[in-house]
Amino acid sequence: MAIHGDVVIGIDIGTTSTKAVVFDGRGKVLASHAVDYPIIQPHPGFAEQDPDELFAAVVQAVGAVTIRHGIRPAQVKAMGLSAAMHSIMALDESGRPLTRLLIWADNRSVAQTERLLKEQNGLAIYRRTGTPIHPMSPLSKLLWLKEEQPDVFQRARRFVSVKDYVLYRLYGDYVADHSMASATGLFRLDTLDWDEEALALVGIRREQLPQLVPATHIMTGMRREWAEKMGVASDVPVVIGASDGVLANVGVGAVLPGEAAITIGTSGAVRTIAAAPTTDEKGRTFCYALTPGYWVVGGPTNNGGILLRWLRDEFGAQEREVAKKLGIDPYDLLTKYAERVPPGAEGLVFLPFLSGERAPHWNANARGTFFGLGLHHKREHFIRAVMEGVCFSILSVALAIRDVTGPMTEIRVSGGFAKSPFWRQMLSDMLGKPLIVPQTHEASALGAAAVALYALGELPSLETVKTWIDTTARHEPKEEHTLIYAELFDLYARLYERLKEEFNIIAAFQRRNGEKRSKTKSV
Ligand code: ADP
Repeated sequence: MAIHGDVVIGIDIGTTSTKAVVFDGRGKVLASHAVDYPIIQPHPGFAEQDPDELFAAVVQAVGAVTIRHGIRPAQVKAMGLSAAMHSIMALDESGRPLTRLLIWADNRSVAQTERLLKEQNGLAIYRRTGTPIHPMSPLSKLLWLKEEQPDVFQRARRFVSVKDYVLYRLYGDYVADHSMASATGLFRLDTLDWDEEALALVGIRREQLPQLVPATHIMTGMRREWAEKMGVASDVPVVIGASDGVLANVGVGAVLPGEAAITIGTSGAVRTIAAAPTTDEKGRTFCYALTPGYWVVGGPTNNGGILLRWLRDEFGAQEREVAKKLGIDPYDLLTKYAERVPPGAEGLVFLPFLSGERAPHWNANARGTFFGLGLHHKREHFIRAVMEGVCFSILSVALAIRDVTGPMTEIRVSGGFAKSPFWRQMLSDMLGKPLIVPQTHEASALGAAAVALYALGELPSLETVKTWIDTTARHEPKEEHTLIYAELFDLYARLYERLKEEFNIIAAFQRRNGEKRSKTKSV
């Protein structure tokens, strides 16, 4: 269907796909197109993507959406960019890739990360840069490259993120926005500049990194070839934007200091807005830049909806079968069973660290644990305990953030878990706070489009986005449930502390045995 009138295109360069989303001037989605690409895992722990494939996906996604909907170049008022955080790659003298993109999920730099923490004052680096010391951080990945592939490291003329690379291909310039840069571990929050100490530690010069610009920076003069393929004018204003995490806050309407966004999809995250850069003396939370006066403080968890998926796939054959017959979603059946059990699952507590954990513990060795099992526990108790475990971990992240930025004034929830009213109510009870469910799709792309309009002077402030977003539901916490959860959360937190040593032992055992198994397999 042809689209008439002015549009803004939000481009979201994500982990599994790049989406071009067409909005009108009030954030309404008019059309979208996604182009998928794979994650390449040449060795265990590695997670790479082909930068040219991602660049092609950007061009193709915008091209497809403009052609399909008859959008003429003159209609496109602006485009705004969002991209996944923490990717890094090396370029040679002539701007050609020397490596693939090492993406956020790449864990190869575990040894470098441990050294940063133990020997190189990692906590001080985190407090200046806002990026937790973790293998996801480009700081750790660059140290790995220097040590493990010194020839590539020496030949590298430049190091860039996925968005920097896309912009270089479109414009021939090396630029990075403050937000993407603030997720590299190489960028000082207080001066909005590269951190000389971190650069010295890695052994790179600032000339090897892109020029820094704010999220509202406007690029023009796109190379004609790409503008034509995308169906836009080469002087269309392209606003550089920010990272997908901070733009997702804007896109759900959590934009004022104290307002928070909680997402539980496959993984999860809690993010709130702070008026100034704020880090944690214990190193539990991240702080990334959005625009001056808007900083996003938060924490990611590895263990979100993936746990219910694990339960469904490994233990839910029966539910899958019944759901199929009834023509309903197996998740809806699982959550129905869980509803039969009272809050606290009659004393079954679940620590959900099946994939290790990032915030607030940043402990790759943490593992899952059911505690308090009795003969009175049935399948439905396990389901409820797992859902509660996910909420306990979100609560622990929220508490760490509260220590850093103060109380949250309003919480907006999104992600696959939000399809379940029961799970949302559980989270409200657990946090002891009201929750708002905004009606948004493509939050990061919407955030990118909003920043683009703001940069052009067409939005008085990013807060305007709030007026674009309808609320689909609200939840009020039930006090009697909150009390039960508070009692069990105390136990949950103590269990984690007490089991830390044992987690190291079992994780080492699993690694040893995993290695043995893969050796036997390859013989
Ligand atoms: P992603 O983060 O990969 O984009 P989603 O945001 O779609 O994924 O979230 C997927 C997760 O959401 C699932 O693993 C599941 O835990 C949860 N989920 C999806 N549908 C439902 C539902 N109807 N009820 C409860 N949880 C659900």
